[in-house]
Amino acid sequence: MNVYDGERMAELMAAEGMVATDDANAADLVVLNTCHIREKATEKVYSDIGRVRKVAGAEGRAPMIAVAGCVAQAEGEEIVRRAKVDVVVGPQAYHNLPKLVAAAAKGEAALDTDMPLASKFGALPARRNVAPGAFLTVQEGCDKFCTYCVVPYTRGAEISRPFAAIVDEAKALVDAGAREITLLGQNVNAWSDGDGRGLHDLIRALDRVPGLARIRYTTSHPNDMAQGLIDAHRDVESLMPFLHLPVQAGSDRVLRAMNRQHTRNGYLRLLDRMRAARPDIALSGDFIVGFPGETEAEFAETLSLVDAVGYAQAYSFKYSPRPGTPAATLGEQVAAEVMDERLQRLQAALQRDQAAFNAASVGRTCRVLIERKGKRDGQWLGKSPWLQSVHVVGPHAIGDMLDVTLVEAGPLSLTGEVRALAAA
Ligand code: SAH
Ligand code: SF4
Repeated sequence: MNVYDGERMAELMAAEGMVATDDANAADLVVLNTCHIREKATEKVYSDIGRVRKVAGAEGRAPMIAVAGCVAQAEGEEIVRRAKVDVVVGPQAYHNLPKLVAAAAKGEAALDTDMPLASKFGALPARRNVAPGAFLTVQEGCDKFCTYCVVPYTRGAEISRPFAAIVDEAKALVDAGAREITLLGQNVNAWSDGDGRGLHDLIRALDRVPGLARIRYTTSHPNDMAQGLIDAHRDVESLMPFLHLPVQAGSDRVLRAMNRQHTRNGYLRLLDRMRAARPDIALSGDFIVGFPGETEAEFAETLSLVDAVGYAQAYSFKYSPRPGTPAATLGEQVAAEVMDERLQRLQAALQRDQAAFNAASVGRTCRVLIERKGKRDGQWLGKSPWLQSVHVVGPHAIGDMLDVTLVEAGPLSLTGEVRALAAA
């Protein structure tokens, strides 16, 4: 979502006549779009500000520094005090970035962490020049209040963008070069138009957008996995066979303490239904090790859940206490060495399963969407339907959709042989 927000902020500033640059020394403005989800991400902002301070900027003028995103939202004035940046703008207020930059240029205070009722999306300029795999935010915020998580506080309450606005933006993305769209939301499968239509209805509408070959969505909560969405995986060809469904932990006691509102068994049965609808579905998840009070036996339940599911890929994190969340003040915080050791064991299991999933894909023929050049001459890198990175060699181009036979698997990627350029 931060990638999406970053693109939208770049488009906003482009509408003001600014041009994006990769060279900080040529910049008049540097926008740091920040993440607050774990302490490490938050601390990185301050070291990045220090780094940006040292760049020369355009014509020897130090660039203006804007801090956007969830750290801006959570820390507000504190960033101005601690790091003397010029602009602070929260994730629900970034449509005001041009105004804030103009105010800062006049030496005025430029801080906006409002969460207005009217959504920012209506105030953003049209999409242009997008990559073949584009992002589209359809839902923001969270009402779940997992006890470890800052998202409900930094991104605010759950809101869904209107159906028509999303379809229009999808069409604009396709016109600008997208062939695959990933629908985004903190709880994307909670998307609803308030009139009984859910994410699956949106997916079925997007399936009819000419030129859009692939649809994905992330991140989903187990409790919002409606039967309609499961059915869409059975029926809608452009909906890719991939589901990122975080579970966080395998022990019911820990899940309860996390306020996840689902059980281990409920999650596993849901995956059974998903596999019944779409037998080749690739599964992905998020895990937290070392939640306060997690015992070795409870952690072992996370490992056994991983064994039971066989994830195609996954993200795993050490629990990070976030100020203001209920879990941060629980006693029994797990010792750092214990967390390190558990994370290593979990990641070893997840890597084993990812390698096994990739190895089992060898021999499959599938479509690969080329996203970028590879490191070697003539080499290209794309994505399989199951979100695997696939290397191919040949006279291809970014945005090509190729029919590819997967011939060799590594732990993190595969090699493919191109059969043909696939029809649109
Ligand atoms: N809404 C999504 C997740 C959004 S946050 C969901 O509930 O699935 C992305 C991931 O960051 C979470 O799934 C969780 O695994 C991790 N995370 C969130 N807060 C964390 C914390 N305090 N410490 C460690 N990991 C955390
Ligand atoms: Fe955070 Fe996801 Fe839980 Fe919401 S559902 S509180 S975003 S982990």
